[in-house]
Amino acid sequence: MKIRLYTPGPTPVPPDVLLEMAKPITHHRLPVFEKSFANVNKLLKTLFQTQKDVFTLTSSGTGGMEACVANLLRREDRALVVRGGKFGERWGELCEAYGVKFVPIDIEWGKSVDPRQIEDALKVNKGIRAVFTTHSETSTGALNDIRAIGEVVRRYDCLHVVDAITGIGVHDLKIDAWGIDAAVTGSQKGLMIPPGLAFVSLSDRAWEAVGKSDLPKYYFSFEKARKALSKGQNPFTPALTLIMGLEIALKLIEAEGLDNLFKRHARLAEATRIGVRALGLRLLADHPSNVLTAVRVPEGVDGQALVRYLRNDLGILFAGGQDRLKGKIVRISHIGYIDDFDILVAIAGLERGLKQVGHDVKFGTGLAAAQDYLGSN
Ligand SMILES: *Cc1c(COP(=O)(O)O)cnc(C)c1O
Repeated sequence: MKIRLYTPGPTPVPPDVLLEMAKPITHHRLPVFEKSFANVNKLLKTLFQTQKDVFTLTSSGTGGMEACVANLLRREDRALVVRGGKFGERWGELCEAYGVKFVPIDIEWGKSVDPRQIEDALKVNKGIRAVFTTHSETSTGALNDIRAIGEVVRRYDCLHVVDAITGIGVHDLKIDAWGIDAAVTGSQKGLMIPPGLAFVSLSDRAWEAVGKSDLPKYYFSFEKARKALSKGQNPFTPALTLIMGLEIALKLIEAEGLDNLFKRHARLAEATRIGVRALGLRLLADHPSNVLTAVRVPEGVDGQALVRYLRNDLGILFAGGQDRLKGKIVRISHIGYIDDFDILVAIAGLERGLKQVGHDVKFGTGLAAAQDYLGSN
């Protein structure tokens, strides 16, 4: 059976990237690798829209998030955490793991945070050292306004740390211009390579905080990463096969151009939303991100059965809902190496799946709407 990934990580990997990673293994202290790593670091800066170094860590995205908590804070620091889904909650869990007290802002899942809520919390709670936010909350499909949040945070003496794991490469995110102190992404999302790498950008303010941090760390030390990077290296053995693939993926992104990259994702996301709505279904998010479309499963339909049928019988991998959203939504991702016809397959699959689980569907309704939009936009 042909497997089609519509999961918000891992995402499909372009053939050129796969071929590069199939080459014989090299060694990470050889000039051939150093040359390619230098190119990767240059291209990562373009993607992050920053002049500062972007650090490559050998872990999934969560490792990059953990590194931010462990390297930017002190034991006695207090943080502000926006929790609007599973990944916002993760920032809180990481703070807990390091014994850092935090003030949560809980947002109904599917909603985006209002920057005024952050302003209010920073006013009331004096001495907050870092605000942890999520760019695109992958568990709900909601997009947060990082630029507006950044304007609020900048008025206070604290850091703005963003989980941009699915946002980067999909939505415009100006790290330097918007004053983001730390941003994290992962390899298996918009970067179109397999899982295993995390990337973190750090501002000058963030580096000052690194100098003061007294939380325990060893492998995920930004100081170690900086020292190694100054010699064009990693502190430990990097996942060099992934870095080889990454160079190709970043070149593809460079060739497309950031503006076109954002426009492509916006167009494909809009086509998905149009197709879904034409089927009479509703979205979960009020401000949906272009990363994925979280669709509310119609009343009386078992969302888990729908996802299971699509996966087992059709090879179409949508993601279901997590935690409180289990069985209630399906998430269709359109991130990375995705084109018009991937979207049409997703909508066609959704129609087939809905009918299979007993929902009344007229085949072609969603498909026609998506075709109409894609054919004329
Ligand atoms: C995927 C994802 C993560 C977690 O990344 P892992 O690579 O699974 O560790 C964190 N935040 C967001 C928003 C994500 O989409």
